[in-house]
Amino acid sequence: MKIKAINGVKDILSDEIVFWQKIEKRARDIFRRFGVHEIRLPLLEKTELFTRSIGEATDIVEKEMYTFIDQGITMRPEITASLLRAYVEHGLHVRQPVQRLFSIGPVFRHERPQMGRQRQFHQVDVEIIGAQEPEVDAELMAMGQMFLNELNLEVSLEINSLGCPECRPAFRKKLIAYLQERSETLCDDCKRRTEKNPLRALDCKQQGCKAAVENAPSILDNLCSGCEEHFIGVQAQLDRLGVAYTLNRFMVRGLDYYNRTAFEFLTTDLGAQAAVAAGGRYDGLVEELGGPKKTPGIGFAMGMERLCLLMQQQEGEQEELGGADIFVAALGEQAIQFASPLVHQLRQRGLQAAMDYSNRSLKAQMKQAGRLNAGFTLIIGEQELEQGKGILRNMNTQEQSEFSLQAGADELAKLVAG
Ligand code: ATP
Ligand code: MG
Repeated sequence: MKIKAINGVKDILSDEIVFWQKIEKRARDIFRRFGVHEIRLPLLEKTELFTRSIGEATDIVEKEMYTFIDQGITMRPEITASLLRAYVEHGLHVRQPVQRLFSIGPVFRHERPQMGRQRQFHQVDVEIIGAQEPEVDAELMAMGQMFLNELNLEVSLEINSLGCPECRPAFRKKLIAYLQERSETLCDDCKRRTEKNPLRALDCKQQGCKAAVENAPSILDNLCSGCEEHFIGVQAQLDRLGVAYTLNRFMVRGLDYYNRTAFEFLTTDLGAQAAVAAGGRYDGLVEELGGPKKTPGIGFAMGMERLCLLMQQQEGEQEELGGADIFVAALGEQAIQFASPLVHQLRQRGLQAAMDYSNRSLKAQMKQAGRLNAGFTLIIGEQELEQGKGILRNMNTQEQSEFSLQAGADELAKLVAG
């Protein structure tokens, strides 16, 4: 019986890994420029961490978490909560009042799999903890944009403000009243969550809900002076940094902990408009998780599967895996015994060297060298071994020359590195 992977998870095969490595490499490079350091976190956390931070009435906590009920443990559905848990647990604020951290890895959500939507997917997560200035919000978005630009991806940035505990309750009330009047046109989800989570109706993708909220009160008209000033500051700084954006008063986030700035990087190239990255400010969360009082924070998470899909689509052709530097074709047992330590020594000298131990024909081995995209092939048969001279073939120019086997790995490495 063939056992297959479960629904909604994916193997990442080596021809796709090129994109993943490119994303990670670029992320590390850009984050370094902004002084953002890596942190690695466990995949398992106490369930309470997520119910408390993400919120009981959110899609994630209501229906998407993989939880071991008897143990009170959940496979993380996002990284932010874990990262803040670590921040609090290790008192990181003592070392450095503003922490700039990133983490890369898988997260788990039980949702309906489709293109760009899996049950195990991967996020690049960035958090700046301990700074509340609007410049920081803009800097973080500018960093996200720089990253996406350097990957040559075309995306647009949308921003909104979600207010704060001071101004949101009044807005929430207004919105609930507005939604209740239009209850019959809302989808079942939005009907159900009108009172618990009315903001979600604003970005519901159902046609009825979209039409219903078109003239809903705007949160941007209902901000307190502190939030308004902050949001104006964010926009002014984005302008100074030359980061293009549009205001989207309907954008909310599916997690309760956000306040003030919310943003998304969007693309229309994955079918329906999809977010490749999303984030925002969470000024109450660190305290909520038992950390120092009034510690502000902001962050975002990028979906790596969606980045990969975009790269494949927008860049067209698959990128090639790097080839071997040299393939050693050994013919006969003695040649194999001679060649294998030579290959090992080439590897010690940093080269990607390959050979085959199964004593196949020269033709078969040349074919294999081609499949490995080798730059050179060194042919060693019985006769070559006797005369102490292998045949070194440049696979690009097809030129052949003799290589004195006595010269050894140092000399060969030099020739191959050219
Ligand atoms: P969506 O509205 O698409 O469900 P979300 O608001 O649930 O996204 P976040 O929790 O903000 O997403 O996660 C950040 C990013 O992770 C998203 O912008 C997206 O790129 C990616 N993402 C979210 N859910 C999935 C999934 N099931 N499969 C693959 N990528 C995902
Ligand atoms: Mg979601």
